[in-house]
Amino acid sequence: MTTTLPAYDEVVARYEPVIGLETHVELGTNTKMFCGCPTDFGGEPNTRVCPVCLGLPGSLPVANKAAIEATIRIGLALNCSIAEWCRFARKNYFYPDMPKNFQISQYDEPLCVDGYLDVELNGETVRIGIERVHLEEDTGKTLHVGGATGRIHGATESLVDYNRAGIPLVEIVTKPIPGTSALAPEVARAYVTELRDVIRSLGVSDVRMEEGSLRCDVNTSLNKPGEEWGTRTETKNVNSLRSVERAVRSEMLRQAAVLDAGGKITQETRHFHEDTGDTTPGRSKETATDYRYFPEPDLVPLVPDTAWVAELKAALPELPRLRRKRIQQEWGLSDLDMQSVVNAGAVELIEATVAAGASPAAARKWWLGELSRRANETGVELADVGATPNQVAELQSLVDAGKLNDKLARTVLEGVVAGEGSPTEIMTNRGLEVVSDTGALTAAVDEAIAANPDVADKVRSGKVAAAGALVGAVMKTTRGQADAKTVRELILERLGVQG
Ligand SMILES: [Zn+2]
Repeated sequence: MTTTLPAYDEVVARYEPVIGLETHVELGTNTKMFCGCPTDFGGEPNTRVCPVCLGLPGSLPVANKAAIEATIRIGLALNCSIAEWCRFARKNYFYPDMPKNFQISQYDEPLCVDGYLDVELNGETVRIGIERVHLEEDTGKTLHVGGATGRIHGATESLVDYNRAGIPLVEIVTKPIPGTSALAPEVARAYVTELRDVIRSLGVSDVRMEEGSLRCDVNTSLNKPGEEWGTRTETKNVNSLRSVERAVRSEMLRQAAVLDAGGKITQETRHFHEDTGDTTPGRSKETATDYRYFPEPDLVPLVPDTAWVAELKAALPELPRLRRKRIQQEWGLSDLDMQSVVNAGAVELIEATVAAGASPAAARKWWLGELSRRANETGVELADVGATPNQVAELQSLVDAGKLNDKLARTVLEGVVAGEGSPTEIMTNRGLEVVSDTGALTAAVDEAIAANPDVADKVRSGKVAAAGALVGAVMKTTRGQADAKTVRELILERLGVQG
């Protein structure tokens, strides 16, 4: 059965979306959540395991203090209350990538509750309520081989790698977010972006969606205005910011089509497909009772010391939103200009370039101009474009010193991006330095005067503006490397005219 999807405008005119986001963040601790195994990415399968994270009988978990500290810091940054006493719980379900057949998680006693995160969207602030932040352990990974798609269907065998099993995982759950109307997909994306930036600023995770250290599940439901909230679906493991936005939009359209046809939404998990941008059904959603939660008997309760929590709170770094506001002021940017810096992912890059000695205006010009254009063309993130903040600052210092003009600087920058070395090396090796030595320029000036006698006469008779054509001729013969100001002075001097 194929269903024609309604237009998005019609959907938001007839229905109100309610969204919610569950985000999992792998913490960057040195060791796993309940054992001493290392956590670094990569490594041969099943080499970073021990009896505890393999769930062997008789092994006992011990909670990782660094992970608890990181979770409390995330909770504090999200304006949560930190529990004075809480427990881990067993979440029971059977899956081959989970060696114990239960996951140690937190249930009705999470570490952090009831916070919020303010998100900027189109100049407005949207406050997203945070229901809870809790700590759990990650599962291993299954690999299905022999099939065409990498899925279990059609595979000849399945392999399990437990290296990831037991890595500390923080789950951040929002309260339901109603009232966003047509902006629901963008609010979802803005929230995950801001959350990622907050966690990155805390230094507790590298929050890379493409490597899976930040994973997002998106809940969506629709209801008619004035009616109760609809049944929600949960779109799993959406693995880019753009996909977060697309997943909400696609699910809104799909649900509207079902409801328009008089159908009912099934409470289920759904899979998002990057290639088509739509979702397909997964399993019907378990309810909490299916997991048979009970307090983890092998771990003592967590009782974070109040003074310690206060210390952690006082030591929080400047959070991204406030930092952006401060930077905007320091750099003297309008809201719109700041927004384009943020959208380009250039805040840190410009900041580092300024720290390396460039002015904010110059740093912004390079990152939002040549380098952004280049990043777009090659389809990479600005940070991976091939130039570093130090190199950009060095380039600008050569411009400021009069050694490079704008055109030559662009050529040097191309060399930097191509990996030819530092700006100074490229300028020297390729002989791109501005020539302002009068001796070297006099021959070119004389040549230009001899080749353009009419122009020279005009200048001699007092039409100083005509000298521009001679300057242009010299720039041409020197391949743009002459210092235009010196050339102009020389021309006027040779023609016996006062500048
Ligand atoms: Zn282990």
